[in-house]
Amino acid sequence: MKALVYHGRGDIRCDSVPDPKIEDGRDAIIKVTACAICGSDLHLMGGFVPEMKSGDVLGHECMGEVVEVGRENKRLKIGDRVVIPFCLACGECRMCKMELYSCCERSNRNAKEQAKALGYGVAGALGYSHLTGGYAGGQAEYARIPFADFGAFIVPDGYSDEQVLFLSDIFPTGYMAAENCDIKKGQTIAVFGCGPVGLFSIMSALVLGAGRVIAVDSIKERMELARRLGAEVIDFKDGSVHDQILALTKGEGPDAVIDAVGMESMGSETTMQRMASAVQSSISASDRPYALNDAILSCRPGGVVSVPGVYIGSAVPTAMGAFMNKGLSMKTGQTHVHKYMEKLMRLIEEERIDPTVIISHRTADLGDGPNLYKTFRAKEDGCVKVVMFPHGTSSEKTMGHEERQKQMV
Ligand code: NAD
Ligand code: ZN
Ligand code: ZN
Repeated sequence: MKALVYHGRGDIRCDSVPDPKIEDGRDAIIKVTACAICGSDLHLMGGFVPEMKSGDVLGHECMGEVVEVGRENKRLKIGDRVVIPFCLACGECRMCKMELYSCCERSNRNAKEQAKALGYGVAGALGYSHLTGGYAGGQAEYARIPFADFGAFIVPDGYSDEQVLFLSDIFPTGYMAAENCDIKKGQTIAVFGCGPVGLFSIMSALVLGAGRVIAVDSIKERMELARRLGAEVIDFKDGSVHDQILALTKGEGPDAVIDAVGMESMGSETTMQRMASAVQSSISASDRPYALNDAILSCRPGGVVSVPGVYIGSAVPTAMGAFMNKGLSMKTGQTHVHKYMEKLMRLIEEERIDPTVIISHRTADLGDGPNLYKTFRAKEDGCVKVVMFPHGTSSEKTMGHEERQKQMV
């Protein structure tokens, strides 16, 4: 079969690889009808995630049709149409019982290795390095889904792949990020980053009762989309983000802030960021803390810092003094996807959130994948979200930014 395969930093290819096989009774094999590229895949592409090996099949946002089920898998049957959570969970361990599915104690085959860095192992994930289990990913024609009897979400009839695919990751991620803000009706939330995760955070914060959302980015098309979704938008290149947010909030600041950027944030010229550059040049820190520190500095005293953005090593320096003295609290984590899929499907059914609005690029050929990775990474051609249909069943033809703009007119 064809799959997108990692060959080293910046080198992703569409290769022929062996078809996946059932390895455990709880597995299922799906024919992948749609899959997407995530901001987290960019961290892999950039070589920031340890324990990636040449030959690893990428992809953790996927859905498809069940074509084979393991012997112990009593829930799924051939032909079921399912969306797959990116994190793998057994549904039975101590963490799963607490609905902390991304911390599952059993799904990561390499949990012991991971515990050396984290103190404890956390869940396995599809297509996300050997530290999270070394499972082949879903940017492929077929995929093996471990623990599919618990994780695979059966899609109700009448919804297209594009409407439901993002239940696999970024929709629950934006929603959990907003839920972690503990929003009281009418409150102001600042969202750093208007990529897919930031955009779902904006939509979710508004659904959860935020009165205002202030979004931060510097990429025009993404800022425009954030505005259309109901946010007020500022550009981090237009001077101090903190000052811009104060000006918009009568000096009061947002009640909670969401860092939907993570470890590859770009810097703007504030004191904190100059400090960060100085420290990073002298010690080896892998993760850039610009957005995180802007979020911490901008949050009002007593507020919440919600961090869906991924960090791998240490983000140095972190504005711990501001964090402590303002009495902030932080909530973060890989998303507990399983907990949210059904609830968020209802938001789609009720047309309160339309996930398709963020799709900018579609292709019915996995062979376009390597170039689309580059386009998404460079944020060129108005690229916000890439969806691929490995069996060529795209309901719409491949569209670039200009075509989409024309279509919108
Ligand atoms: P993306 O790369 O498409 O978007 C990031 C956006 O942040 C870009 O638009 C960029 O211009 C903007 N940005 C960069 N520096 C900034 C700054 N200093 N201030 C404000 N904005 C800035 O990625 P994405 O798909 O939206 O994902 C965002 C983050 O969420 C990534 O770190 C990804 O790994 C993470 N993620 C986490 C989970 C989870 O389970 N917690 C799930 C999915 C994605
Ligand atoms: Zn992801
Ligand atoms: Zn578990």
